[in-house]
Amino acid sequence: MICEEVFSNEWCNLSHLKSRKCDYHIFSYSPSTTANNYLNLILIKLIHPLLILSQTVIMRKIFLVLVLFNSICLYAQQTNTALKEQAITDLQNQYNEYKTIAFQIWDFAEVGYKEIKSSALLQETLKKSGFVVESGVADIPTAFIASYGSGKPVIGILAEFDALPGLSQTNAPEKQSAGKDAGHGCGHNLFGTGSVAAGIEIKKLIEQKKLSGTIKVFGCPAEEGGSGKVYMVRAGLFSDVDVAIHWHPADENEVTTTSALANKSAKFRFTGLAAHAAAAPEKGRSALDGVESMDYMVNMMREHVPQETRIHYVITDGGKAPNVVPDFAEVYYYVRHPDKEYVKSIFERVVKAAEGAALGTETKVEYEIIGGTHDLLLNETLAGVMQKDLEKVGGVMYTAEEIEYAKKIQSSFTYKIPEIKTAAEVKPLKKEADKASGSTDVGDVSYVVPTVGMQAATWVPGTPAHSWQAVSSDGTEIGAKGMMVAAKTMALTAIDLYTTPDLITKAKEEFIKAKGSYKYEALLGNRKPALNYRD
Ligand SMILES: [Zn+2]
Repeated sequence: MICEEVFSNEWCNLSHLKSRKCDYHIFSYSPSTTANNYLNLILIKLIHPLLILSQTVIMRKIFLVLVLFNSICLYAQQTNTALKEQAITDLQNQYNEYKTIAFQIWDFAEVGYKEIKSSALLQETLKKSGFVVESGVADIPTAFIASYGSGKPVIGILAEFDALPGLSQTNAPEKQSAGKDAGHGCGHNLFGTGSVAAGIEIKKLIEQKKLSGTIKVFGCPAEEGGSGKVYMVRAGLFSDVDVAIHWHPADENEVTTTSALANKSAKFRFTGLAAHAAAAPEKGRSALDGVESMDYMVNMMREHVPQETRIHYVITDGGKAPNVVPDFAEVYYYVRHPDKEYVKSIFERVVKAAEGAALGTETKVEYEIIGGTHDLLLNETLAGVMQKDLEKVGGVMYTAEEIEYAKKIQSSFTYKIPEIKTAAEVKPLKKEADKASGSTDVGDVSYVVPTVGMQAATWVPGTPAHSWQAVSSDGTEIGAKGMMVAAKTMALTAIDLYTTPDLITKAKEEFIKAKGSYKYEALLGNRKPALNYRD
């Protein structure tokens, strides 16, 4: 049983392994990549001198165990690769089906908490695929959790589907209203569908017993200002989840290494006394004066807040006619900062400005918290895994026709734009995070479960979110192809997590360290979901 060649020569080479002459080395031989074979050879080379020295039974046994262990790792690696290939092929075969769903949701264009048809379509798709769907979770009619499988690990995939008010646009490469009240300017039609696609793919692999554990797709409504996920987190719906995966439409392919700004928003409602603005102005007290005084004070406050603070507002009701002193006026505020503690304290100062404004104008004010989201807790371990998967999947290739469409879209931009070909590229993983800019309720999820996300190029390079150009691309094949990049990458990352439990352990360790002693508390307090915030 002892390999003569090994003991007579110092080293047996790759051709020796392939010729299967050696009983010891046969364990480590497999038709894998050359790189893997070389790994085996290195291992054998390390053990080999010991064998020569001792030639004892015990040493041979150690040798055998090590080679066997190496072979098991190799087998797992090959299984993982095969599953990934299967997932990519399978998802690509379903492209037309998912594209149709995404375009339907694009067409529905339903705003936050009103996504009745969009949510129903995604739930139906999941049910048909064998998921058990629990709808109306966290007291939100359009929120749902679709589950399949049992036991650990539990991997969660986040799905969004709300549109933005006032962004009606066809899928033409020029500004052209679709005649609706809203539009998918953030690509959540693709977001929801892509996440459902990834979830269904993982479900198939669990069903085929190629993976074991549980997959959950979280239907998360009202991301745009409604803080839908916050209520879901607050209700403890992520308590059994080991890792949460998400993505977002964008104009590039990149794993998320940028945090988000914590955000707290509220509507301030002033009430006064109506009167004829010319005949009896002294009898009136203008609610709009209250709003304007508050805005003035907050604008002065900007000089005295930390550098990264963002405060913005819109007057959502300023009265109806100039000759009537308005007895009601409303202003809608956002306060943002990378640190949630600053957000809390700055928000309190904004409330003081509102109270001062009411006092000075002899009006009354009350406010309603509308939203509140955490910053995003990043996870380097998971980002590294997803980066490799995104690189394996690759970016979005345009047809000649799509290049023409993209050129027309780009001609509408007045600033420096990236080349169209960048949609086909994958950005390297950033070593240092960029400064956070926007906000997302994924932030709250990231404070209760290790979370990883990515962006896929669903928009023509150079396109900003919340623009007519984004709405247009979200309703084209460019958008649908970007969605599939995300669906495939998320499925691949989930496969890594199911097949390599150590990754989850490592991600959890990093998560616990990053969170420190912070105990999650929703920034929006105990309020019920603001189901009518878009009214
Ligand atoms: Zn969005």
